[in-house]
Amino acid sequence: MKYDLLVVGGGPAGLTAAIHARARDKSVLVISNKPTASPLCKAPPMANYPGLPGVTGLELVERLLAQARDMGAEFKTGRALSVMPMGSSVMVSVENDAVEGRAVILALGVSRAAPLRGEAELLGRGVSYCATCDGMFYRNKSVVCAGDAPNFAEEVEFLRSIGCQVTEARLPGMEILGTDRVSGVRTAAGEEIPCDGVFLLRSSIAPARLAPGLELEDGYIKADGRMSTGLPGVFAAGDCTGQPLQLAKAVGQGQAAAHFAIEGMA
Ligand SMILES: Cc1cc2nc3c(=O)[nH]c(=O)nc-3n(C[C@H](O)[C@H](O)[C@H](O)COP(=O)(O)OP(=O)(O)OC[C@H]3O[C@@H](n4cnc5c(N)ncnc54)[C@H](O)[C@@H]3O)c2cc1C
Repeated sequence: MKYDLLVVGGGPAGLTAAIHARARDKSVLVISNKPTASPLCKAPPMANYPGLPGVTGLELVERLLAQARDMGAEFKTGRALSVMPMGSSVMVSVENDAVEGRAVILALGVSRAAPLRGEAELLGRGVSYCATCDGMFYRNKSVVCAGDAPNFAEEVEFLRSIGCQVTEARLPGMEILGTDRVSGVRTAAGEEIPCDGVFLLRSSIAPARLAPGLELEDGYIKADGRMSTGLPGVFAAGDCTGQPLQLAKAVGQGQAAAHFAIEGMA
């Protein structure tokens, strides 16, 4: 099925975009890590959200989720790994599946993960972001897994089930070693672990890796007044577009991004 709108990220910006699109009778698929696992859901009662003083992060997300579901938005739980405009469509790969839309809104929040040394150079040459997508290449080989993805344990279990020898490591300070291909990692403590592959299973993918060609400014996605990123059919909203990193801005941009994405479909 080709959706009118794909939304990557189930935070306030993405859910507001989905609600607005459903109010305009457009089909919507929200692709996200479990929305109630986001850091916002740990927020204590908040004083500055207009109209709902004292609302907690979890309460707000649950109410937005219920509203989007009741209005007919569909949901797919998982990490989006790549976004590719293709003619009049945008394709988004989600773990080892792919979905198609007429437009996509990136509502990714802030990516807090700094790239590791060696990551960019060895991506696709031993470095992977998805075990269930690339695991078969490492059958019966040794791999290192690191990250905070909600499905980390399942991804590791999958690799073990196909015969990989898995070592789990911590992301911070890790360095990926190798020249043409991954040969190992060096941990923050200085320990060298030889391996054939490294799975970086983060909950978020840096915007420039997610959608090659995306223009960034100070590490945030550059979007114009219509929330367009400049890539055909690709819009952005919320914290991923930069300061202020606040709820009211996120929901406002989510609404605007959906409005202009739909306007472009006319
Ligand atoms: C503890 C805390 C307290 C806060 N208090 C306040 C406050 O009092 N007032 C205020 O205005 N703001 C507050 N904020 C900031 C506010 O939470 C953010 O501005 C707001 O959540 C931004 O919404 P968003 O939808 O842009 O991003 P987020 O809420 O970060 O949502 C992004 C979602 O996308 C998912 N995602 C990202 N990448 C991918 C991918 N590749 N595939 C699938 N899913 C993906 C994430 O897991 C997440 O669920 C607080 C934040 C925190 C953490």
